Parts: sequence; C-alpha cells; structure tokens
Amino acid sequence: MKVLFYSSKKWVSDLFTELKKELMQFTFLEHRLSIETASLSKGYDAICIFVNDHVTKDVIEILKENGVKLIALRCAGFNNVDIKAAEELGIGVVRVPAYSPYAVAEFAVGMILTLNRKYHRAFNRVRENNFSIDGLMGFDIKNKVVGVIGTGKIGKIFINIMRGFDTHILAYDKHPDRSIESPTVEYVDLDVLYSKSDIISLHCPLNYETYHLINKYSIEQMKKGVMIINTSRGALIDTNAVIDGLKSEKIGFLGLDVYEEEEDIFFEDLSMKIIQDDVFARLLTFPNVLITSHQAFFTKEAIENIVITTIKNIEDYLLKGDSPNLVTSEKYFK
Ligand code: NAD
Repeated sequence: MKVLFYSSKKWVSDLFTELKKELMQFTFLEHRLSIETASLSKGYDAICIFVNDHVTKDVIEILKENGVKLIALRCAGFNNVDIKAAEELGIGVVRVPAYSPYAVAEFAVGMILTLNRKYHRAFNRVRENNFSIDGLMGFDIKNKVVGVIGTGKIGKIFINIMRGFDTHILAYDKHPDRSIESPTVEYVDLDVLYSKSDIISLHCPLNYETYHLINKYSIEQMKKGVMIINTSRGALIDTNAVIDGLKSEKIGFLGLDVYEEEEDIFFEDLSMKIIQDDVFARLLTFPNVLITSHQAFFTKEAIENIVITTIKNIEDYLLKGDSPNLVTSEKYFK
C-alpha cells in the first residue's frame, strides 16, 4: 500500500511514520495537491490530503491515469473534493468524520473569551510593564443569547459548554436534533437567530447552500455589536461584507480560525514575506478581530485520532474496497 502525502508537515510525517502498518509505504511531500503536483502520484495506490488541497475533476483525472485508487482526507470537511467526479472515475474518497469535536468546540469558546476579555492584549501589555486596564473592559457572558448554526458533533459540544455559562441558545440546523432542545436551547429560523443573538458561532459544513451564509443581508439582520465566530470553513463568510460590518460597527467582534482564501496563507511561515491579499491585510487592522491559522483541530487527542482513523481508512479501502468513512454522494448530497 503505497501512499503519497500532500501538504505534509513535520507532525504529519512523524506521527504517520510512527503508527503506520507493516504493509504501508509512505512518502511525504510538503507541496499542495494541484494539477502540476498530481502527476507525482504515479505508482501510488492512495494519496493523503488536507483541508487546502483542491481536488478538482482535472486533478482526479490525472490521479486516475496514474493508477491512484483512493483519496484519503486527513480531516472531516470534504468541500475541497469533487466527490461526483471521483465517483464517476471510480476513485474512493475517505475522511475522518470525527477526531475530536471537543478540540474545535473548545477553541471556539476560547475565541469568544479572548475577544471579549482581550487576554491577547493584556498579555502583551503586561510584558511591556504596561499595567493599565483601559480599553480591556468586556461583558458577562451569563444571560447572553448565543446563536449556533449547525448542531452536529461540534455544534452540540459547543452548546453544552456555552450552557455552562448560563446563556440562552438559539440553534439552527438543516436537520435539527430535537433531543437537544430544553428550556435554554431552542431551534429557531435563521432570521430569528440573526436578529436575537449576541454571539453567533458557525458549525455547519461548507456547501452550495452555506457558501457566504454570512453576507450583507444576514449581517443587516444582526444586533449591533454582535460577535461572530467561525471555526468551520472560511467561505461560510463573505469577507468583504464582514469588513463593511466591522467598519460600520455593526459587528463588534470577529473570531476567525478559517478564511475563505486561506490556502495561500495559513500553515506557512510568511513572517519575512509581503502579504499580497489586501482583504486579509485589512482584516488584520481591526482591533476587535482575532484570526488564527486553522488550528482549532490541533490537539494531541485529535491528531492521534486523525492518524489512526486515516490509516484504518486506507487499509479498509485498499484491502476490502470499502470503508465506513467513505464519502459518497448518496450519503451526503441527497
Ligand atoms: P457534523 O457533520 O457533525 O455537523 C454539521 C451539522 O451541520 C449537521 O448537523 C448538519 O445537519 C448541519 N448542516 C448541514 N447543512 C446545513 C445548512 N445548510 N444549514 C445549517 N446546518 C447545516 O460536522 P462537525 O464535525 O460538527 O463539523 C462541522 C464543521 O466544522 C465541518 O464541516 C468542518 O468544516 C469544520 N471543522 C473545522 C475544523 C478546524 O480545525 N477549524 C476542524 C474540524 C471541522
């Protein structure tokens, strides 16, 4: 079982090498998967990719020609893979549906606390012997209304944590799970969620229905000073619309662990480079915006689960032609 890893980093090669099965041979490339780098897959049974590898139909055709049988995602989201094209060409796609929903949910809560109480600013001030607390005032989270879009694995854990702060939760999901409803957790329509929430956190997948879910029109419906948190996928948010919302002060706080054009920026050390993305550069100028580099998943427990599940997915598919974690259009695009 020869597997070629794209977008590999040290933690990827270290852990996958440590945990690989006897019959497996791994090659690690730092390059992202693209039309140009797809040709390197010749002679491999599977490729293993991450969130910012774009697997278009053209790429899948090259993989097919090269004899690749499986695309193994070492992440949960699969919006970056043309699933229908893979099916048409008979290439399997597997993913890691849940590795640690806690990691992402806890990170989203951390973003709320950081934006609200400004830990990052306080840390820098104190290190420069500036002990003034001017400008660091936050608000009590207790009794605030928290809107949660997407109540799957991560959304549910996020709701549980936020309930501990004595908040009222307004949830929205295309497929509501009524078992989570309680006097403090209610499903509502999106317009109600937008107009009543003090904090809105996104936990739904990116697809054609959710692309730019947060846009000029949804922002117009929100409360002045709303906090928006996105740890899901960048393109759930229309970045230019949130920049306008920040400038008009309609949006009071923005926490982003994902960004719609993140693939040219995130996961790389660009500290000696000039950022070419002017929209991203503008976002960085706001004092009430917190951006992290797609790290919500990055805990010890989550990484171990990613590696173990990915290896099992590859083994299952290459040896038995199936996997419980196969992504099919029948399962996801009904
Ligand atoms: P999940 O599949 O368990 O839950 C997603 C929920 O979204 C489901 O309940 C589904 O019904 C709902 N949904 C689907 N379409 C919707 C729509 N149009 N409107 C509203 N809700 C809709 O997924 P999860 O494990 O909770 O993960 C959620 C998302 O988090 C993933 O899609 C992924 O993009 C993101 N994620 C980010 C990181 C990170 O490191 N930042 C890590 C893992 C996952």
